[in-house]
Amino acid sequence: MVRYRKISKWFGDTQVLREVDFDLAPGEKVAVIGPSGSGKTTFARVLMTLEKPSSGTIEVDGELLWHKKVGNKLVPAKEKHLHKVRGKIGMVFQQFNLFPHMTILRNVTEAPIKVLGLSKEEAVERAKTMLDKVGLLDKIDAYPSQLSGGQQQRVAMARALVMQPKVMLFDEVTSALDPELVGEVLAVIKEIAAEGQMAMMLITHEMDFARDVADRIVFFEEGRIAEEGPPDKIFNSDHPKDSRIGQFLSRFY
Ligand code: ADP
Repeated sequence: MVRYRKISKWFGDTQVLREVDFDLAPGEKVAVIGPSGSGKTTFARVLMTLEKPSSGTIEVDGELLWHKKVGNKLVPAKEKHLHKVRGKIGMVFQQFNLFPHMTILRNVTEAPIKVLGLSKEEAVERAKTMLDKVGLLDKIDAYPSQLSGGQQQRVAMARALVMQPKVMLFDEVTSALDPELVGEVLAVIKEIAAEGQMAMMLITHEMDFARDVADRIVFFEEGRIAEEGPPDKIFNSDHPKDSRIGQFLSRFY
């Protein structure tokens, strides 16, 4: 579903991603963990088209994201192409960024109407299904400021899901929440994951959650995938104490 090949990213003189190869299979759930500053967010942002890779290619669902093939050559993609491929990717961020002046229902129906061209009735029906899924059907007429942070984050999820993406990206979605609100947001993600069909990439500091929900854990370190494997392998206690991953995990366990 997603294929990174030799993705590098430089900010000035600093190389933040170092020729990263990564594959995400259809329906697969991958959790990305690692120390702060290791490149996790940049790794996600190049897929979200928020950051352009310095080199390398990314494919989503069989289509190049940042490039177009012209004959045998790769040329940089135009905005229209980026926009089309971006439509396959749903994103939820640390900051929920709901439109404050719109009701919850309108927050969720806006993109299906404007971007997918659905009729208002179709969009409302789809939005209600998604808001029900995140447990907020009773809030459709409320405004974002009337909701808790956890509820707003669940609306942000419904807003992404309503576009029926092939891949969902969750970038530290609980980091801005009060601790007592984290659980409800993680529970909704778990439910979405359990449905199975969507590929998911989750950047997270919640290790128990990562272990629970992911098929595979990717450990980032200095712009590279330093370790990866099933949760049982990554979260065991056999890592040498002086290894990077051993040191990283010892902060949590
Ligand atoms: P993580 O998500 O693992 O904390 P990031 O991808 O946010 O890592 O950051 C990796 C490195 O890239 C950090 O050193 C950060 O300061 C740097 N960085 C990220 N974004 C930018 C930017 N827009 N300009 C310059 N440096 C950046």
